[in-house]
Amino acid sequence: MTDRRTIGISVLSDRDEERGRLLEVEKGVLARNQEIATDNRARFARAGLGVVNVLSSPGSGKTTFLARLLSDRSDLPAAVIVGDLATDNDAERLREGGAEVVQITTGGVCHLEAAMVAGAADRLELDGKRLLLIENVGNLVCPAAYDLGEGFRVVLVSVTEGEDKPLKYPGMFKTADVVVINKMDIAEAAGFDRPALRANLAAVCPQATVFEVSARTGAGMPAFYAHLDEHLAQRAVPLG
Ligand code: MG
Ligand code: ZN
Repeated sequence: MTDRRTIGISVLSDRDEERGRLLEVEKGVLARNQEIATDNRARFARAGLGVVNVLSSPGSGKTTFLARLLSDRSDLPAAVIVGDLATDNDAERLREGGAEVVQITTGGVCHLEAAMVAGAADRLELDGKRLLLIENVGNLVCPAAYDLGEGFRVVLVSVTEGEDKPLKYPGMFKTADVVVINKMDIAEAAGFDRPALRANLAAVCPQATVFEVSARTGAGMPAFYAHLDEHLAQRAVPLG
């Protein structure tokens, strides 16, 4: 987890003196966030919950991805936390599928913090749940630095975005456990250069497991579910 903090700090690092003071403040904020994230992680582990933090630019398909997951995997009792700058449209959309959803409207804050997730989790019935899904605010910059206490981190990138996205936002991609390339159903029409994106991902985030899907049609999703199931098997609370 220290690596995420370091990445967040490096975003702000500068020789400039004022930046230096800002850096001290930022360090304190991130250190406090990390403490709360660690508490969250312990709490979720005790509950036997798999926790997935989903991040991307606006419009990459986070909500569609989660809606598809909830509908395909109705065997997994799930709760969802949705972060947005404003409106609860995404939360409403996910609720339609029957999931228990709590909306965090950040009021302009461009990322979720561990304390917000702790507060939202208090409002959810987590007993009997297997999965907690977190849709982060659409932003590929500062959410990278905020650990929420998740079990793993999914970064979505769609075929309509530039293939150089990992090069432009390395701070985010370096923290990804999983990268999901979404909207594969329109890859050809979008002129998607698959080898270019795969090469950039291999260069920036070789640690990430990559899946190619269409959340809209469901194609490619089962491979991701197998990965999720493996993670959940590790999380299972031992009986007795
Ligand atoms: Mg959304
Ligand atoms: Zn932010």
